[in-house]
Amino acid sequence: MWKIAFLFLSVAAVLAERKRYDGHKLLRITPTTQEDLDAATKFIDQRQSELDFWKLPRGVSDNADLRVSPEEYDTVAEQLRAAGVNFNVIQENLQDRIDEDYERLSNKAGKQPIDLEDFNRHGDINTWLTNQAASCTGGVQCTTYDIGNSYEGRTMRVIRIGINSSDQKPAIWVDAGIHAREWISPSTAIYFINQLINNAADATVRQVLERFDWFILPLHNPDGYEYTHTNERLWRKTRTPTDPVWDCYGADPNRNFGYQWGGDGASPEPCSDTYRGDSAFSEPCAQRVRDFVTPRANQFRAFVTMHSYGQWWFTPWGYTANEVPRDYDDQAAVGEVVADAIFAVNGRSYTVGPSSILLYVASGGSDDWSYGSLGIKYSYCPELPDEGFGFEIPREYITPVGRETFEGIKAMANEIWTREGLGS
Ligand SMILES: [Zn+2]
Repeated sequence: MWKIAFLFLSVAAVLAERKRYDGHKLLRITPTTQEDLDAATKFIDQRQSELDFWKLPRGVSDNADLRVSPEEYDTVAEQLRAAGVNFNVIQENLQDRIDEDYERLSNKAGKQPIDLEDFNRHGDINTWLTNQAASCTGGVQCTTYDIGNSYEGRTMRVIRIGINSSDQKPAIWVDAGIHAREWISPSTAIYFINQLINNAADATVRQVLERFDWFILPLHNPDGYEYTHTNERLWRKTRTPTDPVWDCYGADPNRNFGYQWGGDGASPEPCSDTYRGDSAFSEPCAQRVRDFVTPRANQFRAFVTMHSYGQWWFTPWGYTANEVPRDYDDQAAVGEVVADAIFAVNGRSYTVGPSSILLYVASGGSDDWSYGSLGIKYSYCPELPDEGFGFEIPREYITPVGRETFEGIKAMANEIWTREGLGS
């Protein structure tokens, strides 16, 4: 009896720790004319610091998304109407989807092999990487690299996959999960890994394995990602303590990289969701990636860091909208090849271009660093789709998004191969 009561209390305590979003709605603002867009932009500019915008619009007929608590809803809805901004409620209760995921995933944690059609825990993904590497066959060579630990001591594991791998062979870097709550990003990296290892008999897969070694880090920010599973589904940053007075944690690792660090679009406030960190590379996870990629910079022909959401294939620069890079024509042309290949699978449209011009300026991004500091010409920051669910995209989309993005990535690799004359 006591045991049962105690067990019940411990389960309740674990559940109670998690931040809840009962009755929180996701509003989608979709401007259809320039006038609509102007009204929406004005509203966003005025309210961005106090409201939780998940996505901003890049132009007419692109959407902005806004999370609103039940307490805020009536006032915000009224203010939107008064400002002439049209919106729909696309999610009535964010907690419903969060509960559904947590409940299902609690039965899967600790099991191997991981479920490729679901979201998995960091430790399970690492074990799976090791097991996959050990089982590579058919001329495919796999190696794992433990590139160091995160702030909370989690092992960051990279897998290299290729045919006739060597330190001189052209290579492609892919990482995912730098922002903790963007769950479709690591699941897409895992889709790539599974295809490269277990579908190498396919001629198109074999070709990109012969041409390139693939280095994939499925979880760039494991502390933040685990926190989204255990405490707060919508957490974005790392988990480094940043402000003891206000009890704030985490820097935004994608504002923490050392090219033009500390410029526009990165907050100096430790409690902000876009906090740039104490200094460039203050975050252990960003240091690990820097220290692994830098000595191999000459080998890497592309650097792809996956986010969600918005259906953008971003090119540098992030830090400034005043100029485009010297290599912009090539970067954009390869980006368009990617967008066409993605479109051909499920008919989904991506927009290609610099994040600073299409969306907003943000300094300290890892793709600015890989291009600006290391000279990896084809540095990209894709924003995967959300299917109208924001960060809580359901597991049903893992495979379709993985498949189309993988087609895009293969097309990118082949276009770089041809364009840069790597075969000659
Ligand atoms: Zn992101």
